Amino acid sequence: MLIIKDISNLQSYLTAYQNRNYSVGFVPTMGALHKGHGELIKKSKNDNHKTIVSIFVNEKQFNSKEDFNSYPRNKGLDYNFCSENGVDLLFEPSSEEIYNKNEPIIKNTNFNNILCDRFRKGHFDGVITVLDKFFSIIKSNKVYFGEKDFQQLKIIEKFIQEKYKSLDLVSVPTKRSEEGIAYSSRNEKLSKKQLQDLISFHQQTENFLKSLEKSFDINTANQKAKGFIMEQDIEKLDYFEFRNNDDLSTNGKVSDSRLFYAIYKGNVRLIDNLKV
Ligand code: AMP
Repeated sequence: MLIIKDISNLQSYLTAYQNRNYSVGFVPTMGALHKGHGELIKKSKNDNHKTIVSIFVNEKQFNSKEDFNSYPRNKGLDYNFCSENGVDLLFEPSSEEIYNKNEPIIKNTNFNNILCDRFRKGHFDGVITVLDKFFSIIKSNKVYFGEKDFQQLKIIEKFIQEKYKSLDLVSVPTKRSEEGIAYSSRNEKLSKKQLQDLISFHQQTENFLKSLEKSFDINTANQKAKGFIMEQDIEKLDYFEFRNNDDLSTNGKVSDSRLFYAIYKGNVRLIDNLKV
């Protein structure tokens, strides 16, 4: 496996791939890799001749310096993970390599003021800004994103339609532990007790979903969701609500929706979404 840190070196390999007519799949990550990332890599390996993974903890998408500084970083383990999962090229640039001094921020204009965008102002601007850089450097055939970050997936889908029409976006279902919780880099920051609490919250939420009348409209389901969440022992909650799968609105039947949540365990913010 190649580990590359600078763009010019990367570009010489990309040219070599192009000359051989290799198809390239790209999996952008922030590292602290887990089985969820593994699913994206597996899919890309299946679809393409070569798979590139990037590891870049993108400061521009964090709302606080503290959250950025404490984001899990597992360099050595990530190298092993990528190599064991058959990644061809790991791109791990520094911030200086990616951003100019006064890098302009690209403003995201889709799916604004709802879900994570409502609580993490500017977060998706940072996501789009870094992806614009990566997409224009790597020019892969396909790019892979997880449904775990569903609003992000929808925003990137729009961004690609607007600016990178020839890039193929592939979405990958959320990989879950045996207990049902989504694998996440942030789970590493949880104590045993917090992890146990998250598992039991998740299981209660699954039961709530099972008990819900599927013919409800989304607004009625959201009333029920309010009742359910008020009975849970949650320290802090950003949102817990159903939204339409297609446009993330609250129109339509609950059977066309997902249940989205963002909750805190201590100072760790955890998001997930469950298809109804
Ligand atoms: P991150 O490193 O958290 O920025 O995630 C990189 C990519 O992996 C994003 O496209 C995520 O949606 C995806 N991802 C994260 N966790 C999971 C999971 N449990 N299952 C599937 N994809 C995931």
